[in-house]
Amino acid sequence: MTPDTRDPRPVLVTGGAGFLGSHLCERLLREGHRVLAVDNLSSGRVDNLRHLLVHSGFELRQQDATVLQGVHACAVFNLACPASPPFYQRDPIGTTLTCVLGTLRALDIAHGQRVPLLQASTSEIYGDPDVHPQPETYRGNVSTTGPRACYDEGKRCAETLCYDYARQHGVSIRVARIFNTYGPRMLPDDGRVVSNFIVQALRGEDITLYGDGQQSRSFCFVEDTIDGLLRLMASGVEQPVNLGNPHEVTMLELAERVLRLTASRSRLVHHPLPADDPRRRCPDIRLARTQLDWAPRVPLDEGLARTVAHLRAVTGASAPRGPAARARRLPSRGVTP
Ligand code: UDP
Repeated sequence: MTPDTRDPRPVLVTGGAGFLGSHLCERLLREGHRVLAVDNLSSGRVDNLRHLLVHSGFELRQQDATVLQGVHACAVFNLACPASPPFYQRDPIGTTLTCVLGTLRALDIAHGQRVPLLQASTSEIYGDPDVHPQPETYRGNVSTTGPRACYDEGKRCAETLCYDYARQHGVSIRVARIFNTYGPRMLPDDGRVVSNFIVQALRGEDITLYGDGQQSRSFCFVEDTIDGLLRLMASGVEQPVNLGNPHEVTMLELAERVLRLTASRSRLVHHPLPADDPRRRCPDIRLARTQLDWAPRVPLDEGLARTVAHLRAVTGASAPRGPAARARRLPSRGVTP
């Protein structure tokens, strides 16, 4: 089931220039595969892949996943879609189209090439869960009308397409339900909580805690997530599999950890909770443990320290100075203090 490194066709990674995609491309190349990364560079960055461009087995193609066709590939990883709420809510119609049409195109390629496809699904398909922690059998509590629906429902429809291509066309599919992932190459301005808190702490700006900070998430370090994706592809397991770290923390606790790790004196400032923000999220990973022999290895403090080092380097290079810098604010979801 593992893509054969002797196959002259590359592994196709849609969204290959993104946070997860670039780490995946790097790992695949290291394991001896040829890799074709396709990305429209809306949230992906060439900089994430610059060090791979010299590799003879690597190609980056700037193209939208929704128009992708005629690609030769020995396996498909379908990762194309902005994943940060402020990013995917900026063009919600585009987000739904990327999830649905992009997955359709990727499935057409997998079908035509008779190769497996791994769909990067998400814990968002559980919505604001009323079952905790979330097992793969839980069907979710998702709004069809709220600001997160474009991503949540788009990703749900993408899963449906995967299983219909499996039933109707015999495509071999894998569905990874990826929970919050963090690590180096997160964009400093992508608006997600880990990057927001770290950049704010490093700059001495206020830490923007939405709501009372008691909502929880479970953060998985990117290397662990990538390892899970590769194990899932190799396993042949066709049912959805949660990939995430079961260590659950509140956003208040996360903020306190970041302040401690950065030795920052930033203040915590409460902002209104965005609409439909899930109150709790934690994966049940029994399936991944038993079927993939996978569990996260990197503890939160170690992963955060490595992320701090990355964001310190990135923002250190570009940090604006003077009063204008102090007035600068990271993207939020239209909330006001
Ligand atoms: N959050 C926060 N401050 C921020 C950004 C996010 O308190 O500056 C909260 C957000 O309300 C949510 C959690 O952190 O409860 C995770 O948000 P993120 O956007 O990273 O991802 P999500 O899991 O909501 O998709």
